[in-house]
Amino acid sequence: MKLLETPRPSQPQTEYPEHTLLTPGPTPIHPRAMKALTRPMLGHMDEEVFKLNRAIQADLREMYGTAPGAFTALLAGTGSLGMEAGFANLVEQGDEVLICANGSFGRRMAEMAARYGANVRLVTAPLGEAINPSDVADQLGDAQMVAVVHGETSTGVLNPVPEIAEIVRRSGALLTVDAVTTAGMEPFEMQAWGVDYVYTGAQKCLSAPPGLAPVAISERAFARFAARRQPTPLWYCDFEGLRGYWLEQTYHHTVPVNLHFAFAEALRAALEEGLPERAARVRMMGAAITTALAPLGFSPYVRREQDRLPTVLALRLPEGLDDAAVRKELRKREISITGGLGPTAGLIWRLGLMGEAARPAPYRMLMSALEDILNAPGLVKRFEAALER
Ligand code: PLP
Repeated sequence: MKLLETPRPSQPQTEYPEHTLLTPGPTPIHPRAMKALTRPMLGHMDEEVFKLNRAIQADLREMYGTAPGAFTALLAGTGSLGMEAGFANLVEQGDEVLICANGSFGRRMAEMAARYGANVRLVTAPLGEAINPSDVADQLGDAQMVAVVHGETSTGVLNPVPEIAEIVRRSGALLTVDAVTTAGMEPFEMQAWGVDYVYTGAQKCLSAPPGLAPVAISERAFARFAARRQPTPLWYCDFEGLRGYWLEQTYHHTVPVNLHFAFAEALRAALEEGLPERAARVRMMGAAITTALAPLGFSPYVRREQDRLPTVLALRLPEGLDDAAVRKELRKREISITGGLGPTAGLIWRLGLMGEAARPAPYRMLMSALEDILNAPGLVKRFEAALER
């Protein structure tokens, strides 16, 4: 019998069009991550993969500003799994949980915490405004956990996590932070702020493929987990199982090794560029885009400057602009941007400035297309001039 050879594709098999992806996630994949994706597959229990995992853990400690030796890991799922794992491991039936909910993702947290048995109370803020830390202080009561979204993607609002953390720390409650639109681009100081559980999604500020949720877990959070009356109902992300694989190299489930390859490269590239440099890059890009579009009637949606999330630029649309029609025209030209969500649909655009999206080249493409679609001569020139400043 003749054994069949694995067919080797003659490349390239298909030509795909270039696409300019400027949504608030996913973001364009970093070239180093793209290359790493094509590495030959290794087993999830291979010594080389464990070595790579240890490097990822060290780099995550740096990205999140954790205590030395703090536990970090990748969950095999998107940012929502990072969110769910926190509540599944750290909340039990009847726990009091205070959730800062000033947008869709804060509300998602509340829904998840309730499903894991928490008595959820909400701290809210008007749409487009940040959570007021004194409202957290007023409503803290005997909460065992406080949860907050650092950057609320649905409205482009940055919540004041360091100030909220200071209040929570004094109370002894655990603090969970969603850093999905901030970690890797904005400063994050887990240890200095006193955060107990933090997560992001690989496809956001790090420009890695979707499918991994990098997390960091404090000692206090592990102590709370150890004191559970019942095991967590979410077997897949049980903290003990995670610790087994990431610290003791024991099998728990088959991790997506090729995503680890890509993620490790993307994270390394971010740290080599420097987190302060990345934060400065985002601000420079946001300012140039806002300046270029202002004469057309676009204006910042978030009223107070300190409440604006640099990585998701929320711009109010000019009177009379047909949001859906313009975005459809852009999509025909292989450019994707995102509109508002729920109450802000048709009212705003949300331009992604995370990871590789926050570069002049893709925004040049957008400005050039808009100059044409909106018949707005001078837009590209204004953008170039603003970049120079
Ligand atoms: N939290 C925030 C702030 C987000 O922006 C998102 C996704 O956009 C999520 C959580 C959920 O992440 P995912 O869609 O990767 O599950």
